Amino acid sequence: MKMPYAVGNVMKKVLIIEDEQDLADLIAFNLEREGFCPVVALDGRSGLDSALADPPDLIILDLMLPGIMGTEVCRLLKSREKTAAIPIIMVTAKGEEIDRVVGFEVGADDYVVKPFSTRELMLRVQAVLRRTGPERPAGTILRIGPLVIDTERHEVTVGDEAVTLTTTEFKLLLTLAERQGRLQSRERLLKDVWGFAYVGDTRTVDTHITRLRTKLGEAGELIKTVRGFGYKLEAE
Ligand code: CA
Repeated sequence: MKMPYAVGNVMKKVLIIEDEQDLADLIAFNLEREGFCPVVALDGRSGLDSALADPPDLIILDLMLPGIMGTEVCRLLKSREKTAAIPIIMVTAKGEEIDRVVGFEVGADDYVVKPFSTRELMLRVQAVLRRTGPERPAGTILRIGPLVIDTERHEVTVGDEAVTLTTTEFKLLLTLAERQGRLQSRERLLKDVWGFAYVGDTRTVDTHITRLRTKLGEAGELIKTVRGFGYKLEAE
C-alpha cells in the first residue's frame, strides 16, 4: 500500500549501510516504493565515503558491520561538520548496546531492533525526517543566560562559543527554550520533539538531555531535572 505522504519524499536520498545484501535490498525496495531515493553501501568504509562525497538526507546504519563497526561509523559521521546534522537510524540486534547507540557516545537519532518489519522502519524514517526537517521560517534570537539561540539559522552559542548540535538536539533545546521556566514531561518532549509516530521510550529523552548538557558546557546547567517528571530550562 502506498503511503499518502510519499509525495513529500520525492528525491530524498537515504543511505543504507548494511552488509547483508538481501536485507539492504529489501530496505531499498521499500524506500523506493515510498518515493525515496535509496543508496546502498555494503560496509562501513564505503558508507562513510558515500556520505561524505554526497551527503544523504538520512542514514540507516547497521551496528554489526565487517571492518569498521556501525557505532564507529556513526561516531565519525556525527563528528564531521559535513555529516553531523544527517539523522541516523541504527539497526541493532536485541540487547545490543542500545543505551550506547542512542547515548552520548555514539549519538544515533533513533534505532530499530532486528528483526523489524519494513513498515516499522518506514514509520521511523518518516518520524525522524519530520522532526529533523526544515521548518520555522521566522527567525528570532533567544537569549537565556549565556545561551543564545538563532532559530532561523539553527545556530547556538554559549558565551560567544559556537556549539554544534544535531538536528534533534537543536529541536529539543529550542522546545525547552521556547517554554522557558515551564516544566516539560518526558512524554510531552517525546511527542513534540520526536513526533507522534515515534514509539521509543522516554529514555531517549534522558540520553539526549545528557548529551545536550555536555555540549552546552556552562549553559548546560540551565536545563533542570525535575525528578520523576521531566525537565525545564530556566535562567539562574
Ligand atoms: Ca550486519
